[in-house]
Amino acid sequence: MADDQHAQAGRLLLVEDEQHLAAGLKLNFELEGYVVDVAGTGREAAALLVAPEPYDAIILDVMLPDTSGFSLCRKLRDAGNFTPVLMLTALGTTDDRVAGLEAGADDYLAKPFDLAELLARVRSLLRRQDWERSQGVEPTSGVYGFGDARIDFDRKEATMRGEEVKLTRLEFDLLRYFATNPERVLSRQELQKKVWKLANYPNSRMVDNFIMRLRRHFERDPSAPVHFVAVRGAGYRFIPAPR
Ligand code: CA
Repeated sequence: MADDQHAQAGRLLLVEDEQHLAAGLKLNFELEGYVVDVAGTGREAAALLVAPEPYDAIILDVMLPDTSGFSLCRKLRDAGNFTPVLMLTALGTTDDRVAGLEAGADDYLAKPFDLAELLARVRSLLRRQDWERSQGVEPTSGVYGFGDARIDFDRKEATMRGEEVKLTRLEFDLLRYFATNPERVLSRQELQKKVWKLANYPNSRMVDNFIMRLRRHFERDPSAPVHFVAVRGAGYRFIPAPR
């Protein structure tokens, strides 16, 4: 396959210790035009992640021989690396999903998964990134404030009462969508479509999980939210300056 096609699809890091699965996935991604590096352990992944050319997305298995995907993801985010992460959870239990999202993953897929779905999810992660890059100047560029929060959408920095808040790419995307649509009731479907870039996202619980995360980051009392407000039966409304 030609190099320019490679460059178009993107560079992936696949962290997966099951060799047959890793080889099969690598092949399939390569057929789609991706360049794929495979790491079988957390240690190998860490070595590849310091390479000068950044990855466009990381596919990260939870159960690794020397560490867990959760721990690896958290370390990555703590180190300021916000490459989109899709986590392959072992069981697909709610606990695993929530743990993955809390560790800073952008998406998750439970094993055993459908190859077509994995490819679609990765495309979605990269589309979001392209979309973000193509945004340019917009109403929410520069520093945006609500409540005790200050968000610099250009620099991708957020603070709450002056303290730095680390946000994943998807948390930023969601926050940006709210900030550009203040006071409006946004359905879960609309959020899935506009932020996740998937028309038929199978799990709208994911939206709720991310709203919970934004509340935890930016509400004085996350259990009594005044900015990210649920509208029963309809979705969510973002209120920058509650009365
Ligand atoms: Ca594994």
